[in-house]
Amino acid sequence: MQNGTEANATRSQSLLKVRKYDFSGVLSPKKGFDVSRKEILNSLRDCAKVIGCRRITIKQYDAWPHRVLCSRQIAVRFGGWDIALTEAGLEVRTTSTGNAVEMVELFMDCWEDCNDVPTIKTLSNHLYKINSKFSPTMYSRYFGGLRRLAIKIVKYKNGEISENQLLDKFCKKGADRGSISAKLRYTVFERDQFTCVSCGRSSKRDSVRLEIDHKIPVSRGGTSELSNLQTLCIDCNRGKGKICV
Ligand SMILES: [Zn+2]
Repeated sequence: MQNGTEANATRSQSLLKVRKYDFSGVLSPKKGFDVSRKEILNSLRDCAKVIGCRRITIKQYDAWPHRVLCSRQIAVRFGGWDIALTEAGLEVRTTSTGNAVEMVELFMDCWEDCNDVPTIKTLSNHLYKINSKFSPTMYSRYFGGLRRLAIKIVKYKNGEISENQLLDKFCKKGADRGSISAKLRYTVFERDQFTCVSCGRSSKRDSVRLEIDHKIPVSRGGTSELSNLQTLCIDCNRGKGKICV
């Protein structure tokens, strides 16, 4: 009995040795599933080091000549690109920003391919061709239109806006100060009868310059909805600003 077990153990050990030998032989060409998870994670970290950023995009990784697999294969192995990044200890963008990065990249690819600003038709074709999860409608919803996105990209490339501004979701109501529409401004002035709600001077009578003020500042989460906006003259608005600071 004992002899038999020992013999089995020896046999399985020798089998293991053979297997180990075989696997190491297969591992060397480094393709597909022969690449270990550890190798993938190290490769992601190396790529991040080369780029000099703890956040790497699919496109950046795929463009890296020393990648061990393509991003799609990695995503399949780890159940998602972001999961692989997390396991590698790298930073992951929030879902919507991550999507925005990908959307902007695809938009620029399409721009390059067509040698022209993408239209709904050309973008639609491009997205279909690469089997993308995005649609032109998603672009319009997120960026407030293709033309608006194109302008932002040009501004970004000229260094006029930051990456965050480029990736910001377009907000119809105007999530930021700059995006109060002329129509909304007029509505607020009209509601307040073109009069400063603080000192009561009016633009017609006293010829003061009126401005739109956020009751709750944007920096503290105030929105650009009508209820959060009020008319102030330039003096009261500046004065208020000083008190707030
Ligand atoms: Zn005033």
